[in-house]
Amino acid sequence: MSWNERQRRMLAAMGVRLFAPAPAAPPPVEPPAPVEAAVIERPIEAVAAPVAPPRAATPTVAPAPARSPAPAPAPVRPPVPARGAAPVAAAVAAAIDPVLAERAAHIATLAWGPLHEAVAACTACGLCESRKQTVFGVGHAQADWMIVGEAPGEQEDLQGEPFVGAAGQLLDQMLRAVGLSRRAESGEGAEDDQAGDPAKRVFIANTLKCRPPRNRNPEPDEMARCEPFLKRQVELVKPRLILLMGRFAVTQLLKSEEAIGKLRGRVHHYEGIPVIVTYHPAYLLRNLPEKAKAWEDLCLAKATADGP
Ligand code: URA
Repeated sequence: MSWNERQRRMLAAMGVRLFAPAPAAPPPVEPPAPVEAAVIERPIEAVAAPVAPPRAATPTVAPAPARSPAPAPAPVRPPVPARGAAPVAAAVAAAIDPVLAERAAHIATLAWGPLHEAVAACTACGLCESRKQTVFGVGHAQADWMIVGEAPGEQEDLQGEPFVGAAGQLLDQMLRAVGLSRRAESGEGAEDDQAGDPAKRVFIANTLKCRPPRNRNPEPDEMARCEPFLKRQVELVKPRLILLMGRFAVTQLLKSEEAIGKLRGRVHHYEGIPVIVTYHPAYLLRNLPEKAKAWEDLCLAKATADGP
């Protein structure tokens, strides 16, 4: 409550003393941050933005110059890239060209053995520091189906094989339901990864070959640096069908950020190979009613792989 002058005088006459709080001090004026700090902490999204001409050093203590009365023309802003993984991944990839392009060109020449070694020795992003081991992929090298997931989790990081945790068990059940398996049947030489009928086998790989710390989402820069490995795996397997599980696999190969719900139910293509999009098994574990849709996707994938 605030008192007006007449009330104050009345209260004073009644001998009542008023407490008048001191006016709040204005907040201290922060000196502008030095230009270097902005450059060092520039977020990844800014990598592809046009480079501004160098700014004159800003004095840290001088007061701001008086504004001119005439309104300054609005600055012409560069177009803001759409938010999301795919444009950012593309922008990052472009920004770190040509180093990335040269590395990708080299990876594109590798046979299975050297490719495996290149993945195991990879230090192209920060994930190499926290991984226990790389997770290359598993299955028949000439499988009819290729399954692409997101990234290794804790169990995959420990065991060096994709989809070995709870989501992996669901994936194995789903594959079995359409007569497919990551391993050869017993009696077919199950210890030999390349035994058995490739038409009944899958090759399983991830968009990232290393576990992100605490299973966080893959970052665009990590996906861009890991993509040549997956691309080469697809070239070597030459599958009849690719099944993409979850949005990161979709972003990586289809360069689309549309929701899985919008992309599923039809045939897409990657390098001329038919692609079916479906939910990630970890998502299905949390959303059991969606399993029916995943089953439809598997049936569409089977019909597509088997052909007319
Ligand atoms: N989720 C994935 O996408 N990949 C794995 O390897 C494990 C869990």
